[in-house]
Amino acid sequence: PPPMPRPDQTRVMVVANQKGGVGKTTTTVNLAASLALHGNRVLVIDLDPQGNASTALGIDHHADVPSIYDVLVDSKQLSEVVQPVLDVEGLFCAPATIDLAGAEIELVSLVARESRLDRAIKAYEQPLDYILIDCPPSLGLLTVNALVAGAEVLIPIQCEYYALEGLGQLLRNVELVRGHLNPALHVSTILLTMYDGRTRLASQVAEEVRTHFGREVLRTSIPRSVRISEAPSYGQTVLTYDPGSSGALSYLEAAREIALRGVGVHYDGSKAHPMV
Ligand code: ADP
Ligand code: MG
Repeated sequence: PPPMPRPDQTRVMVVANQKGGVGKTTTTVNLAASLALHGNRVLVIDLDPQGNASTALGIDHHADVPSIYDVLVDSKQLSEVVQPVLDVEGLFCAPATIDLAGAEIELVSLVARESRLDRAIKAYEQPLDYILIDCPPSLGLLTVNALVAGAEVLIPIQCEYYALEGLGQLLRNVELVRGHLNPALHVSTILLTMYDGRTRLASQVAEEVRTHFGREVLRTSIPRSVRISEAPSYGQTVLTYDPGSSGALSYLEAAREIALRGVGVHYDGSKAHPMV
């Protein structure tokens, strides 16, 4: 297979879409595992109070575990909360606990409330190739913290009715944060998720997304796959749960595209993989 080059600087990617259930968490953990399995050092930051990314990575996140809440609200060091993901070398997770549900409000009265995650990341001294931030389904202060901390936004889009609805609001927020707080911020990557090539609707939505966004859309799309949805209940990503499945291969392929784009190569995928 073509290589998965490592970036020369840490790439911080914010996985965002204020719609729930579009595949943010699934995309975050499976891309992270794909990148780590190919020699990258990757940190997943779980920024959703639900803690689904932590669960999917098999990371303990009961209420007493040091978590990203402590980093954002109590100025704990990121290094004090990061845990290794046991079955994937080079993969790490800063878990979310239920405390984080209150952070949206607690942050309001804190100094530098929009840039607390950014500061924590800048102070983190472990070498990393990627940081992937799994955002909650809202555009509040948690998501704003992610947008201030990252340069790249990755938007998963589910190929269904109203797929593009609400995206305008996310894009306006990206513009606002870019204008006021983080000039480097841009939407670098769009990933089509839960794609069912047999339906006309899915291909119509895919077409619409490609017309609307163009080059940002990865050639690889992620198929709807039972194996992908089963993996989290075993505390695993699909990459270790069923490495040969179409879901695992498509996330690997998407990760490869992202890695290649990072070094300036827009990859012409082979037809062997699920693609729109
Ligand atoms: P979000 O984080 O945007 O809310 P999730 O990643 O949690 O979305 O995905 C929502 C639901 O869809 C989950 O139950 C997940 O297992 C399932 N899911 C996500 N991607 C796929 C896929 N490619 N095939 C099948 N099920 C999927
Ligand atoms: Mg989620």
